[in-house]
Order: sequence, then structure tokens, then C-alpha cells
Amino acid sequence: MGRIAIPDAGDFLATADVVIVGGGIVGAATAFYASGAGRKTLVLEKCNALATLTTTSSMQCVRAQFEEPEHIAMMKASIEVFENFAEVVDLPGYDISLHQQGYLFVSDGPEGPTALAERVERQQSFGLKDVEFLSGDEARARFPYISPTVTAATFRARDGWLSAHEATYGFAKGSAARFFLATEVTGFLMDAQGLAGVETNRGTVHSRTVVIAAGPFSGRLARLAGVELPLSILRRHKAIIGEHHLVPGDAPMVIHCSSGVHWRPEGPGAALAWAEALPEEPGAPLEQVPTDWTFPAIAMEAVARLSPFWREIAAHLKTSNLFLSTGQYTVTPDHKPIIGPYPEIPGLYLNVGYSGHGVMGSPDGGRLVVDLIAGRVSDAVNPFSYERFTEGLVTPAGEKMAL
Ligand SMILES: Cc1cc2nc3c(=O)[nH]c(=O)nc-3n(C[C@H](O)[C@H](O)[C@H](O)COP(=O)(O)OP(=O)(O)OC[C@H]3O[C@@H](n4cnc5c(N)ncnc54)[C@H](O)[C@@H]3O)c2cc1C
Repeated sequence: MGRIAIPDAGDFLATADVVIVGGGIVGAATAFYASGAGRKTLVLEKCNALATLTTTSSMQCVRAQFEEPEHIAMMKASIEVFENFAEVVDLPGYDISLHQQGYLFVSDGPEGPTALAERVERQQSFGLKDVEFLSGDEARARFPYISPTVTAATFRARDGWLSAHEATYGFAKGSAARFFLATEVTGFLMDAQGLAGVETNRGTVHSRTVVIAAGPFSGRLARLAGVELPLSILRRHKAIIGEHHLVPGDAPMVIHCSSGVHWRPEGPGAALAWAEALPEEPGAPLEQVPTDWTFPAIAMEAVARLSPFWREIAAHLKTSNLFLSTGQYTVTPDHKPIIGPYPEIPGLYLNVGYSGHGVMGSPDGGRLVVDLIAGRVSDAVNPFSYERFTEGLVTPAGEKMAL
């Protein structure tokens, strides 16, 4: 079982086959697969606990309804891991609070029926057979709280949400890795062969393989190795409404196709988020991300267009029943993660840039980076390879994009 502790001097490992920097869900999932591949694995986390940064601020949702085949494949595989989590990590009875109440994408535009029918056809052609197209009336018949203005929807019952904190600790406890808390990576060791290890506030760890999985801090960390990654850091809010009789507890995640505003049940209340609610400039990674209390009002007005009962909630909401948190998205130019080797430094691997999808993508992303390390998968067939930036970004239409 994985050992998670603040190391003392006698306990400090000076060598490892694989060092992973970052103890969020991505680092923990990577450690699970690395130690499962027989590698002596060490995770270094600068905080006193795992899953304290972006992972906890997440909406914790999982979905396979994507547009791109590589995202669909990644999320389908990841959801299967979450569905069988206790068995996968071999912790009988371990509960990650997986709620598969579905994801309902809704459109309220006149183009909705045609656009969503075409989208479902494409998704099915990419292997996502269980996504359904619903007319506006069909959506309302199943989910009566959906607005009369909704013209079409898509639904997948196996999408949903979970506890990202429990999943992170499950990966850690189910692994054979060591987790050093309160251990900050402050530099990289290089020699003629490439990467030789990391410097930390507690001492040096020698290793020929280091995976950066440091969430929003990944760019800053890579810079210590002389590497500039194409990552932007953007603030994102989440609001939680405590117990409320108007929230249907059996609802799916409801998300607006074009604006992206979304809500879902959370215990006896609800959670809502919206990336576009406030204009945000890319900024520096932060440990404490400031909140803007205009967010809940803006987001509730927007979700009321999808589900009108939100107007009633907003009108009578007490501050004692409203909780606001913030985190940061780590975003790449094509909104896909970077997973795999950094080509110019042998031994340096990346598992970063998941935007709003790092919880849902962590199992398959962790599996993939370890398969690349172990040589079981070639980076030439890796859709999340860093090489796409050196070769020039290709848009879905096949055009080269300027970075
Ligand atoms: C509001 C919001 C909603 C979201 N909703 C969803 C969602 O519904 N579904 C979904 O899949 N994703 C969602 N996301 C995105 C998701 O939260 C992230 O993609 C995911 O948590 C990234 O995990 P991580 O482990 O890479 O990063 P983090 O959780 O940020 O972990 C990185 C760790 O690295 C550590 N670290 C940094 N620097 C160092 C160093 N030098 N030495 C040692 N340790 C270091 C940090 O302390 C931290 O613990 C959301 C994000 C936000 C902000």
C-alpha cells in the first residue's frame, strides 16, 4: 500500500526509478500506474496533504461526451476505471462517491436540433455509442425542470461526478509508491545523459525519469529545467448552494452547449460553474486564488435560462447557504493535455495542461504517460504528445495554427 507521509531524515529516499512532482489527482494516478509497472516510484508534494490545490476546487465531473476522438477514448477508459475503482486499486469497499446521473448538454438556439443531431452522429462514429439525441420536448419529458426555450439536448447516462479527493487518495493508497509531503522540488539535476534527478527542500533525489504533474505550477517548474511550456493559467470559480428544496437531487449535470454554464446536484444542494462568467486574463499560478463575489449572481442568472427554478433560488438565497471557491485551469493552445516525453531532455516527462478535464482524464492520462515511459506506446502515435507544438499545431480541420 502507498505510504503517504512527511519524510524525516532517516526516511528520505535518495533514488527512485520514477519521480513524480505533484500530489494532485494527476500525480497520484501516474504514481499508481508507475508503481504498478514495477517502478520504484516517489511522489513529491510541497503541501502537507494530497489533492489540496486544483483537484479540490474542481466540479469533479466526468464525461465522455467530447468532440474529439482522442478525448472520447481517454474519458471512456477513465470512466471505466472510476466505475470499477475499488477493484482497480485493490481496496475492497473503497468509495469514491461516483454519481452516474448523466450529463445533459442543452441548446436553446434554432440550430440546436440539427447541430446536436450531427454531433451525436459524429460521437457515435468515434465509438461513443451510448450518447442519445433528445428533442426539446423529449428532454423536458425526462427532466421536467428544463426550460421551455431548450430546443434540443444530448444525454449520456454513464457520465456524472465523483469525489476527486477520495479518488486521489485511492490511487495513492492503492499504489506501491511513496508519497513525500511537505517536499518541494526546487531544481533539476542534469548530466550528459539528460535528467539525473531533482533538488528538493529536503535533499536530492537521483532518478533518470521525472514526471511533471504540478497542475498550474507545471510551467514554473519546467522553467527550472530551462523548458518553456505553452501553458496559460486562468482563474475559475465554483459556487455551492447548500441544502435547497428546489434542487432536484436526481438531476444530471446540465450544461449549455454554447456558453458552457453548468449546474448539477451536490448532496442536498447544487454546484454551479461557468468559465466565461467573468473576463479573466492569463496570470501566474497561485496557492490562494482570490474569489469574486459577483460570480454567483452572474452564474445563477445564466443557469436560470436552462432551468428556471434557479431564478427562485437566486431571489431568496441567503449568504449562509452560499459557498464560493476558486482554482486555476492550466490551458494549452489546443485545449488538450500534454502527456509524454519532453523531446529535448531525455528522462523529462509531462502530464499537464488538462484545462477543465484533469479529474476525468487522470486515470487514462496516468496510464498513458507510464506506457510511454515503459516503451509500451510510441510517442509517434500519442495524440497528446508535446511534439504537436514543435511541429505546429493542427486544428481539427487539418490547418496549421500559429502558437
Ligand atoms: C473551478 C474548476 C472546476 C473544474 N471542474 C472540473 C471537472 O468538473 N472535471 C474535471 O475533470 N476537471 C475539472 N477541473 C480541472 C481539474 O480540477 C484539474 O485539471 C485537475 O485537478 C488537475 O490536477 P493536477 O493533479 O494536475 O493538479 P493539482 O490538483 O493542482 O495538483 C498539483 C500539485 O502539485 C503540487 N506542486 C506544485 N509545484 C510543486 C513543486 N515545486 N514541488 C512539489 N509539489 C508541487 C501542488 O502543491 C499540487 O498539490 C476544474 C478546475 C477548476 C479550477
